[in-house]
Amino acid sequence: MPSKTCVLCQKANAILKRPKTGQQICKECFFTVFETEVHNTITTAKLFKPGDRVAIGASGGKDSTVLAHVMKTLNDRYNYGLQLFLLSIDEGITGYRDDSLETVKRNQIQYDLPLKILSYDELYGWTMDAIVEQIGRKNNCTFCGVFRRQALDRGAAMLEVDHIVTGHNADDIAETVLMNIMRGDIARLGRCTLICTQGEDTIKRSKPFKYAYEKEIVMYAYFKKLDYFSTECIYSPDAYRGHARVFLKDLEAARPSAIIDIIHSGEAFEVAEDVKIKDQQTCQRCGYISSNELCKACALLEGLERGIAGMGIKERRRLEKAAPAPENLRTIPVFPRAPKSNEKLPA
Ligand code: SF4
Ligand code: ZN
Repeated sequence: MPSKTCVLCQKANAILKRPKTGQQICKECFFTVFETEVHNTITTAKLFKPGDRVAIGASGGKDSTVLAHVMKTLNDRYNYGLQLFLLSIDEGITGYRDDSLETVKRNQIQYDLPLKILSYDELYGWTMDAIVEQIGRKNNCTFCGVFRRQALDRGAAMLEVDHIVTGHNADDIAETVLMNIMRGDIARLGRCTLICTQGEDTIKRSKPFKYAYEKEIVMYAYFKKLDYFSTECIYSPDAYRGHARVFLKDLEAARPSAIIDIIHSGEAFEVAEDVKIKDQQTCQRCGYISSNELCKACALLEGLERGIAGMGIKERRRLEKAAPAPENLRTIPVFPRAPKSNEKLPA
């Protein structure tokens, strides 16, 4: 079969079919279009300004490894003027996170970026292994998600960064849109496609890969020979998300634009971020931003410390009423706030 010419440069041989568009293109043109699309996403959404200190949430997986590589490349190529850091959270999952963190440590050397690792154990006094031992495998991802979110914010505050970027890709976002539709959760549906959220406290979070297809991220990592870790977490991921993923892959096989189309549909429900920020207060125990007296992490941690985290809600309430929280509960350290140049902090 005669080899085809790249439809973009019209010179080199096409060696791949671009998953997003079906175009037959060469390797160099693939790198260029992939990187340029991410650059366009960043500039259209005005994600950064010169001098920003930005932490890349790094797990050692394909998405965050490609993100670290692309952020460094674009920062150099287009003079964004960013100070980049790698920020990793160690959930304490033996046989999974310990291995993936070794990858992040190699990435730190390969990309010459400072790395901060923060563990659930040092922050909460609990590893995911210990949490699963107490609560079983049913709600482990709820604990892990709440703890990770706050750990990332705390790590970012320690690094005094303004902004965290994460490797969430177009497939992840389209899956979330589908899940929120299937659950009828309109509030989350309105937030899940936002490229940038003013995270908890003052730290911004954004998703430069919002429009990058997972298949293209894998292809990019493969052709660039990037060093990443590809094993799934041993504590089975969210089963409901699994259904949305299978459904999305079927749709993508029939029509590749389905992923972007679903994101665009979700965007029609977007709400302004500041609407939800207004009624926030700070957690009475740890100072982290919260909509209740206790932040979610402190509430979950109290359940673990009292040994009632794995119980049903009725049984929990009964025990909580019968015995209020003891004074000497292990708690999370007070939230370290990153000082902002335009913000007055209490003396
Ligand atoms: Fe945590 Fe669940 Fe993800 Fe494993 S699959 S890292 S337990 S959120
Ligand atoms: Zn708290």
